[in-house]
Amino acid sequence: MSRYYRDGKAKIQYIPKKGDVMDTCATISNKYVCCNVQVIKTVSNCPFDCSYCFLQDYLNDGNTKVIQDIDAIMANVHEKVDREPNRLFRIGTWELGDSLALEVQTGQAAALIERFRDIPNALLELKTKSDVVAPILTLDHGQKTVVSWSLNTHAVVNAEEHKTARLADRLAAMKAVYDAGYLVGVHIDPMILHDNWEIEYTDLVDQLFAHIQPDHLAWLSIGSLRFKPEMKKKMESNFPGSSLTAAEMVLGDDGKLRYPKPIRNQMYAHILADLYRYLKPETLIYFCMERWDMWQRFFGEGPHYTAMHYGHLYPLPQSIEALDYHFAQSITDRYPHLNLPKPTRSAYGLPID
Ligand code: SF4
Repeated sequence: MSRYYRDGKAKIQYIPKKGDVMDTCATISNKYVCCNVQVIKTVSNCPFDCSYCFLQDYLNDGNTKVIQDIDAIMANVHEKVDREPNRLFRIGTWELGDSLALEVQTGQAAALIERFRDIPNALLELKTKSDVVAPILTLDHGQKTVVSWSLNTHAVVNAEEHKTARLADRLAAMKAVYDAGYLVGVHIDPMILHDNWEIEYTDLVDQLFAHIQPDHLAWLSIGSLRFKPEMKKKMESNFPGSSLTAAEMVLGDDGKLRYPKPIRNQMYAHILADLYRYLKPETLIYFCMERWDMWQRFFGEGPHYTAMHYGHLYPLPQSIEALDYHFAQSITDRYPHLNLPKPTRSAYGLPID
């Protein structure tokens, strides 16, 4: 399996669209507060080689596959978004790969950006660890695409995110799309314990906001290292130099290993304090794959290091639908010129107040 996993990264295979390619992000779980992002599975496998990547355990056919038929993909998207015109759909292309790593070869992101520009109730999210932005800089995107980066400390990028763009290159690419008028997203995920992690994560946040202003930061997520127990052996055999599996971890309700809660508390408190030196209260920040009690701690009323203490505008979401609604509120309030549907609670399946 390991060998096939790496072999398939080298060559792109173009495949026809078969069946439904749009779905809710596979990690959605009612034990966790999920963001309800939709994904279109346009690419499977990735040329990068992160030691914590779930694909090494997930893909049973290691080939890198790309769906080329944009018309067929978009027909599927329209079939879903046209049915609920009053709801804002956030739709990503990164579930099984990187949204931009193969852009020079495939041109897929550029084709999608141009199609999403004219959809009245959807935003496309491209998520990447690459610096491949040249092919999209001059497109007429209408700000309907959020170009997002997974960011980590310089030390984590160098030690665990093999073949990806180095941190300085990712940030330079982010600045280029910001200057080209795109909305930008940031995912500080997975936070990883390592030597001097506090200083390193503080430095990451300082570097991020030395490159962009928070005005075009559409959203920002935080998460910590997690993986299924059965992945541990594969990580150790695929990445013998990595020490990720040596840390103390506990099994969560979703069957994934994570750092114990006191450690996660410490990491999130630290990064929130750093982020709120720059963030505006109306920027939506959220956890990826975290339990309700963690949300309660950081987004409920409480200690001085919570998001609410820093003025975060959106109350603790009581459901996945409520978080989805907060996304729509944050985006429509901050970017009224996009003419996205004004969110109503009923459009998100929420009881009327
Ligand atoms: S960039 Fe994402 S999909 Fe690619 S190897 Fe890293 S974790 Fe996996």
